[in-house]
Amino acid sequence: MTRLANKFGAVNLAQGFPDFPCPAELKEAASSAVFDDYNQYSITWGAPELRDAIAAKERAYNRIDCDPEKNIVVTCGTTEGMVASQLAILDPGDELIIISPHYENYAPDAIISGARPKYFVLSERRDKDEEFEIDEEKLKTEFGPNTRGIVINTPHNPTGKVFSMKDLKLIADLCNDYDAVCFTDEIYEHILYDGATHLSIGSFSSMQDRTVTISGFSKTYSVTGWRVGYTIASEKLTNAIKKVHDFLTVGAPHPLQMACVKALSLPESYYESLRKDYERKRNLLLSSLEDIGFKCVKPRGAYYIWCDFSELDKTSNDVEFCMHLVEKARVAGVPGSSFFFLDGKVGGRKEIRFTFSKRIETLQAACERLKSSFA
Ligand code: PLP
Repeated sequence: MTRLANKFGAVNLAQGFPDFPCPAELKEAASSAVFDDYNQYSITWGAPELRDAIAAKERAYNRIDCDPEKNIVVTCGTTEGMVASQLAILDPGDELIIISPHYENYAPDAIISGARPKYFVLSERRDKDEEFEIDEEKLKTEFGPNTRGIVINTPHNPTGKVFSMKDLKLIADLCNDYDAVCFTDEIYEHILYDGATHLSIGSFSSMQDRTVTISGFSKTYSVTGWRVGYTIASEKLTNAIKKVHDFLTVGAPHPLQMACVKALSLPESYYESLRKDYERKRNLLLSSLEDIGFKCVKPRGAYYIWCDFSELDKTSNDVEFCMHLVEKARVAGVPGSSFFFLDGKVGGRKEIRFTFSKRIETLQAACERLKSSFA
């Protein structure tokens, strides 16, 4: 959709990357690291300074007790963290439950690992202010003797759901009952609204040996091109992830790892203004989309709005609708079915996802175009 947005001169509310600069301190830290000659390979599983900083942050923010030598692998983004972890832990024939709709990479990661993805679809919201829910009884029936793991993502792309303590306790109990591993993608951990709190399943004592917490710098610090992320897991799981990571990529870019140390030293006020800015952008985009006639789910985290367009177009499917929007209204979004990978049955056919990780002016321009297109 980014390629099509460029082709048609559309405002790109499709791919989740900021169109505003990262903090100036981080640019300075990255260039200093190059001039200070951090230009050769780091230790494959991450520069010690960065692992120390990640361990301190995880203890303070997510209450995960981790040892920088034994429990952390620095990866090329969360994306590599997820595939390296799945390759390290899953065996051919294993089943991996993926909560859907979901970020596109999880299912291909499972398939590359030889595992079989099994999709569990979140229950539809009943009204626009309600989050998607996990149907407890239905989730219980998904687990079985071949279940090796489950992938969760909180705060959630694309719906903005923030997993509750009840959700996480249910998942933890099932993982313990079935000896399964939870792969938890927490890349939006700092992007929260309306007083929502981020909880890490990896902080539960029952989950210490069976969780891989995966996160990264792309979203919190607006540096999606730096490709720095990490995994946190028990020593046993980490040893396996270290090996896969070494053979996949050798290591993440060393100077950018050093700049990420600086990112982790930013004051609390940085995170407060990140949230405030995104909340303002969410409110702007949400109210405009609703005025136009989209049925939206109000996100409590992450930076996307998941909308049903059926009131605006009764006949098109999601791909046709997105194509029409990018060509005629010149606004790009992502077709809802991209977030489903169901064996043969595709969901999201009446949905589109927009991101608000953009400047206010960009969002205003997109809303103007959409308004005149549906006037
Ligand atoms: N995980 C989720 C849920 C995402 O939405 C994205 C990007 O959109 C990523 C991972 C990619 O993260 P990274 O840039 O750290 O590879």
